[in-house]
Amino acid sequence: MTEPEQPPGRLPDRREPGDLPRWQRRGDTPLALAGRVLSSRFRALRDRFSRDFMRRTLRIGVSARIFHPEPGSTGLRSKNLQYLEESIAQWVMSRDVLVFMVPTVNTNGLLHPSNITLRHYARHLDGLVLQGGADVSPQTYSEVATRPEWGGDRARDLYELELLHEFVDAGKPVLGICRGCQLINVAFGGTLYQDVVTNIPEALAHVNDEYDAHKHAIVFAPGSTLGRLFPDQRRPVVNSIHHQAVKDLGRDIAIEAMSDPDGVIEAIRYQRADFVMGLQWHPEFHRAGGRELLDCTPILDEFLRAARETRF
Ligand code: MN
Repeated sequence: MTEPEQPPGRLPDRREPGDLPRWQRRGDTPLALAGRVLSSRFRALRDRFSRDFMRRTLRIGVSARIFHPEPGSTGLRSKNLQYLEESIAQWVMSRDVLVFMVPTVNTNGLLHPSNITLRHYARHLDGLVLQGGADVSPQTYSEVATRPEWGGDRARDLYELELLHEFVDAGKPVLGICRGCQLINVAFGGTLYQDVVTNIPEALAHVNDEYDAHKHAIVFAPGSTLGRLFPDQRRPVVNSIHHQAVKDLGRDIAIEAMSDPDGVIEAIRYQRADFVMGLQWHPEFHRAGGRELLDCTPILDEFLRAARETRF
């Protein structure tokens, strides 16, 4: 008699009557069997959790912009406000990550004391974006404001310096935008031009009333990360609005891009971390600003790649 036909790809079942099923071993006790079942269940659960962990949506923190109370005002304007500008959050979320604005913390608060510090945020978030906004205070790089209106926001400097320090310390990536770029330089001991127009008379206009429509060309520094991310871009155009600019570089800070042709520093990188970069321009305004502006998605992807890798 010929053997019954087997489905393709399966070995014929050679078990004899009286043989044990595959999951049982000779001399098995119910306890040993239960132990094997439990440990295999545990392995399956562990595999599922580690898969979920790998897939976990990235959580990116964004530093707060700070609105200080206006003297003599009432209602909301008499309060300390912390907020984010919509397009920066939307730009980061365009890669399907969760965005959280990180408020300032006050561990000595009389009304609502808390033991939460910025270090906790750095531990639980995967990366940090430093938003643009008010000037960095010249005091933060040991200078005196040459004009009273250039005093900057010292309170925000202290908050963001601590935030930056905690994320760098935790090995998490940081992307600084505009003010955030200047802050990274200052954090490592660098200085700023307090006002591009008066300090660098030969410079192009880096600020005007067009705000998010103001643009100029840049070039990437030889050997830079940005040059590698944009191999086909010789002289891209960016939306750059600022009246301060990076002057002396901080420790281990490298130039990534310069304005062309005036050479004003437009992007920097801290070389002792996987990804700590500052962009003087506003990548979040680019898509709305038209096709001639540099699509900065590769920078966002590189930042998120570094964020993903810090989970290990
Ligand atoms: Mn500029």
